[in-house]
Amino acid sequence: MSAVPPGFAFRGPGLDRAELLRDDPARLDALWPSARVLVVDAEGLARFPRPPRETAPATGAEAMPGDVAQRGDSLSSARPAEASLLGLDGDTAWFVLPHEALAAPLDGRLGLREAAATWPALPAAALAQARALLHWQHRHRYCGACGQAVQRARAGYSARCPGCQLEHYPRTDPAVIVAVSDGRRLLLGRQASWPAGRWSVLAGFVEPGESLEQALVREVMEEASVPVLSTCYSASQPWPFPGSLMVGFHALGEPVEPKVSDELEQARWFTRAELEAAVAAGEVTLSPRLSISRTLIEEWLAQQG
Ligand SMILES: [Zn+2]
Repeated sequence: MSAVPPGFAFRGPGLDRAELLRDDPARLDALWPSARVLVVDAEGLARFPRPPRETAPATGAEAMPGDVAQRGDSLSSARPAEASLLGLDGDTAWFVLPHEALAAPLDGRLGLREAAATWPALPAAALAQARALLHWQHRHRYCGACGQAVQRARAGYSARCPGCQLEHYPRTDPAVIVAVSDGRRLLLGRQASWPAGRWSVLAGFVEPGESLEQALVREVMEEASVPVLSTCYSASQPWPFPGSLMVGFHALGEPVEPKVSDELEQARWFTRAELEAAVAAGEVTLSPRLSISRTLIEEWLAQQG
C-alpha cells in the first residue's frame, strides 16, 4: 500500500467517476458483486464489520481501506436500490450505501479525518466523495419547489420530483480560504470556540451573487477590518464536513492593525520569525496537515525564505 500523499487531503487522484455508467443499471448490477462498498451512516462515519478481537483494530483509527470497503456480494446478493455509484478504479466499481439500508447494523466506525490521516489518496478521496454525496441525499429528501418526496435517479447523482418534474442535483457549498500577507507578515485569526493556541488563516462562505474574489475581500474586512489589495488563486480542496469546497487564495492586504468583530476572538499579524518561534514554543498550533489552511501557511513561509 502506498504511503499517505504529501500535502492536503482529498486532492486525488480519486476514482474515475464514470458518469455514463450512472445510466446503465444492467452494467451496475454486473459490477456489484466484486465492487468495493463504503457504508456511511447519518453522522458521516464509515461503518464496517469489526473482525474478532485478536485481529481487530482497537479503534476505528487503525482501520484501513481493506477493512472498511467491503465487497458488494458480502453485503447483498443484488445491488440495493439505495447504493450510489462513486466510480471506477480500473475494472472495480466503488459504491456508497447508507448504513440504514442494511438489515443488521455494523459495529466498526471510522471518521473521515482519521481515514484522511492514514489512508492512501484514492480511498480517502472516495470516502470524501461518499460522505458528501450521502449528506446531500439525507438533506434533500423532498422537493424544495413543491414539497413532494423525491425519487433518486442516475445511481444516486440526481433526484427527480414526481410532482413538478423538477430534477435536483448534488450541491456543494463554496467557501474561500485565504492567507493574507502585508508583504512581510501573515494575518491569522482564532475563533473563541477553538482549542487554546489554535490559529488559522481566514475563511468564509461565498454568498449568492458573489464572486470568489468579492467573498474574500468581504470576509477579510468583516473578520479583521483589513482591506485586501490583490488576490492570487492557489488551489481548492473538497471539504465534505459536510458539503463544502474550500477555494484557497493568497492575498495582499493593507498593513493596518486588525480589528475583530464577533466572528473572531483575535486576529494579528505574524512575521515568519514570530510564527516559527510561537509554534516551536507551543504557543501557537496550526491546522492539521490534512487541511488546505496548513498548506497556504506553509506556502507563505516558503515564500519568505
Ligand atoms: Zn416538486
